[in-house]
Amino acid sequence: ARKTLRFLRQNALLLLTIVAVCLGVLLGFTCAPHVGEGDVKYISFPGTLLMRMLKMLILPLIVSSLISGVASLDSKTSGKLGGRAVLYYMCTTLIAVIMGIVLVVSIQPGKGAGKVDRTGQAPSVSTVDAFLDILRNIFPDNLAAATFQQFQTVLKEVIPEDGNGTAGNDTMFNDTMLNLTEPAKVYVTEDGTKEGMNVLGLVAYSIALGVILSTMGEAGRPLINFFNSLNDATMRLVWVVMWYSPIGITFLIAGKIIEMYDDLSALAGALGLYTITVLVGLAIHGLIILPLLYFVFVRKNPFVFIAGLVQALLTAVGTSSSSATLPVTFKCLEDNNGIDPRVTRFVLPIGATINMDGTALYEAVAVIFIAQVNGTPLDVGGIIVVSVTATVAAIGAAAVPQAGLITMVIVLSAVGLPADDVTLIIAVDWFLDRFRTMINVLGDSIGAGIVAHSVRNELPDEVDDVEMGTVTQ
Ligand code: ASP
Repeated sequence: ARKTLRFLRQNALLLLTIVAVCLGVLLGFTCAPHVGEGDVKYISFPGTLLMRMLKMLILPLIVSSLISGVASLDSKTSGKLGGRAVLYYMCTTLIAVIMGIVLVVSIQPGKGAGKVDRTGQAPSVSTVDAFLDILRNIFPDNLAAATFQQFQTVLKEVIPEDGNGTAGNDTMFNDTMLNLTEPAKVYVTEDGTKEGMNVLGLVAYSIALGVILSTMGEAGRPLINFFNSLNDATMRLVWVVMWYSPIGITFLIAGKIIEMYDDLSALAGALGLYTITVLVGLAIHGLIILPLLYFVFVRKNPFVFIAGLVQALLTAVGTSSSSATLPVTFKCLEDNNGIDPRVTRFVLPIGATINMDGTALYEAVAVIFIAQVNGTPLDVGGIIVVSVTATVAAIGAAAVPQAGLITMVIVLSAVGLPADDVTLIIAVDWFLDRFRTMINVLGDSIGAGIVAHSVRNELPDEVDDVEMGTVTQ
C-alpha cells in the first residue's frame, strides 16, 4: 500500500493528465448533443487559458534556452551537436515521408472516395518560393516584429479574393485563407491566434548570439548569467503552468469534440480510410522506427525513455502544437530522462521548429490521397517530388495547430493539384493534427536523447553550474 501511495505521489501530475484526456473525451461526447456551437468558447475557456500560458512561455524559453545552451559550449562541441541534430532531423523526416508514401500507395484510400466538385483555380506556388520563404524567415529584419509575424508570401497567393479585400493579407492565420469552397466551417487555428511567431528567426538569432557569447570570455559573462537566470526562472514558471495543464487539457479536448461533433461522421465516412492510413503511418513511425533508432544508437530500452515523455505527448494531443508543448518537453527530458540540459537547451527549440516527422508523413499521405480522389494517381516522378516538397513543407510549417494543412499547398502545387483541394480533408484535420503533433514531439525528444548520448563524453564538466542557472567563474 505504501508503495502504491509513493507511486501515486511521484506520478501525480502524469496521472492527472491521463485522467484529464479521458475526462475531456467523456465530457465532450456527453455535452455535445446539448450544447450549441456558440457556447463552445465558454466550455473551452479553461483550455484557452492553458494555450495562452504555454504560448506566453515560448518566447522567453526559446531565447534563454538557446543562448545559455549554446554559450555554455565551445564552438566545436556546439557545431558537433548541431550537425548531428540536423542530420537526425533530415533522416527521420525522410523516413517518415517514405513510410507515408508506401502506405498510401498500397492502401489507396482515395480510390473509392468518389469524384468531388471543386471551385477555383490552382494557384501556382513554386517550391523555390517556399524555400526562399524559409530562408527569409531565418534572417528576420526586425526582431521585435519576428515575435509576432513571419513571411508567408507563398501562402498569400492562396488566399482567395473574396470581395472583402482579404486577399494578400499577410498574416499567416487568416480565417478566410482556406475558406475556399465552404464558408464558416473552416478553422485554421484552434485558439483564435491570428499570426505566427517567426520562431525560426528567433532560433537563428539566439544561436548566433550564443556562439558569439561563447567566444567573448569574461566580457560575455554578464549576458550569459542573465540568460541562464532567465531560463531557470522560466522553467520554474513552466512547472507552475504544468500543474494547471490537466484542467486546461480536459476543456481543450471537450471543446474541440463539441465543436466538431457534427463533423465526426467524416472520420467514419469517405475519409475513414485516409484517417486510418495516416494513423497507421504515425503509429509505425512512433512505435517502431523511432524506438528502433533510439535502441540502435543508445542501446537502452526506448520504451522506458518514451514512458518518461508521456506528459509531453499528452500535452501535444491536448494543444495540437509542438511549440506550446515545448516547455513540457523540456521538463520531461531533463527531469524524467536525465538528458543534459545543455543538449536539450540547444536541440529542443530547433527540433520543435524544423523537425516534424508527423507533419511530413501526413502531408505526403494527404497529397497522394487527393491525387487518388482526383483520379490522377502520381507516377514515380510525381512521388519523388512529393517526398522532397513534403519535407520542405514540414520544415516550413510553424509548430502551431494545423499549420501543416497550410504548408501542404506547396506540395499540392508542386505536383499540379488544385490548392483548393485541402478542403477535401479539412473535416478530419483537427483530429489528425493532434496525433501528428504527438509524433513531432516524440521525434524531437528521441533526437535529443540520441544526440545527448552521442556527445556524452565530449561535454565539459559543467552540468551543475548550468543547472543551477548560474555559471561560476
Ligand atoms: N500542429 C503541428 C505541430 O505543432 C504542426 C502541423 O500542423 O502539422 O507540430
